[in-house]
Amino acid sequence: MSLSGKTYFKNLKCRECNRLYPKEALHVCEFDFGPLEAAYDYDAIARDLNHEVLADRPYSMWRYRELLPIDAEPTVGLQVGFTPLIRADRLAKKLGIKELWVKNDSVNYPTLSFKDRVVAVALSRARELGFEIVACASTGNLANSVAANAASAGLRSYVLIPCDLEQGKVLGSLVYGTNVIGIRGVYDLVNRLCSEIAGKYGWGFVNVNLRPYYSEGSKTMGFEILEQLDWKVPRHTVVCMASGSLLTKIHKAYKEAALIGLVREETPFSIHGAQAAGCAPISSAFKRGTDIIKPVSHPQTIAKSLAIGTPADGYYAVHTMHDTGGSCEDCTDDEIVEGIRLLAECEGIFSETAGGVTVACTKKLIENGNIPRNESAVICITGNGLKTQEALVGKCGEPRIISPSLREFDERIGVELTSPPPFASR
Ligand SMILES: *Cc1c(COP(=O)(O)O)cnc(C)c1O
Ligand SMILES: [Zn+2]
Repeated sequence: MSLSGKTYFKNLKCRECNRLYPKEALHVCEFDFGPLEAAYDYDAIARDLNHEVLADRPYSMWRYRELLPIDAEPTVGLQVGFTPLIRADRLAKKLGIKELWVKNDSVNYPTLSFKDRVVAVALSRARELGFEIVACASTGNLANSVAANAASAGLRSYVLIPCDLEQGKVLGSLVYGTNVIGIRGVYDLVNRLCSEIAGKYGWGFVNVNLRPYYSEGSKTMGFEILEQLDWKVPRHTVVCMASGSLLTKIHKAYKEAALIGLVREETPFSIHGAQAAGCAPISSAFKRGTDIIKPVSHPQTIAKSLAIGTPADGYYAVHTMHDTGGSCEDCTDDEIVEGIRLLAECEGIFSETAGGVTVACTKKLIENGNIPRNESAVICITGNGLKTQEALVGKCGEPRIISPSLREFDERIGVELTSPPPFASR
């Protein structure tokens, strides 16, 4: 696809006071510390982007290129996105809801989480801005994606993580030859250190000084859901939350698609949030009926990818859920494991702990009536179970070990069968 150097990305804009900023490595407003967000020329996009134009494009997140904050053609993560949206009838039956869909970003390319979307945008923009070293503060998946995408783009990278992450997440960064820095401290302390490093060393931190670019990448998950539903907005969408950014950006995607005329019919929709009880600052604010987020200083949950005690977009996530008539739930570690197993057993999808949170909280949202049983919902599965295997050790049973002997097989396994094997008489 070629846009011949055309861009629809105009400015950065403060979410609070609407002051405009140049399209640089900036992320907070000087006047009120509000977050900066990408602003576009929607009239021009509405003229140039429609269903016919989309029909000719490759199936990646860059189909929606006009709505992403870069100036020229993307250069990093060209194959990212367009993950499956699966009709999940067996899980729907189990949870007692009429219609359920799974947006499966656990198979995103190249590092098996939705973070490949945000990194594709952030690193494409980092190159446009001339950064030679890119970096991030991460709970694991972002580090994996920065490491992989920087490697393939030939960029030098540093990833900073809490030092107690799962082995799959740590090795899943080291293998790409990046510089992995493990910090003795929770994510909030990692993030604070990264702000200091960004200021002093001038690196491109994808989720600090490049955050306005990074966060827009999440919208593509929303655009894809709409397109895969033939440009209808799902009645309910359930999203797990760390900083709360993905949830707010799926909402932004639904609104933008309607604004530029891609959505066929404007119907009501609700966006619901999910967190782990051991780190639920957004969920507990929502349940208290306030938008004031009380930080969690010592997160304690197996959903380490969601363990952000001071969520940057928590305030906006609360408002998004509230304004769309959505709701919010949180769940225990045992419920997370049950959620992972439910999704795996019903749909053949092995999600990481964050997906267990989404499934477990969806179950609660259906049980407590916030998602009515006769309606339809999309749940967002954001990461892959192969990266968080320790959460399941000893929780899914064990293989039965036998000798390579048919007699032993007959005695131990064959006896379980209620009917005789079909060729037993031969
Ligand atoms: C980062 C992450 C999220 C949530 O991200 P936010 O946009 O910060 O809320 C969800 N799931 C997984 C697996 C993640 O790695
Ligand atoms: Zn401002």
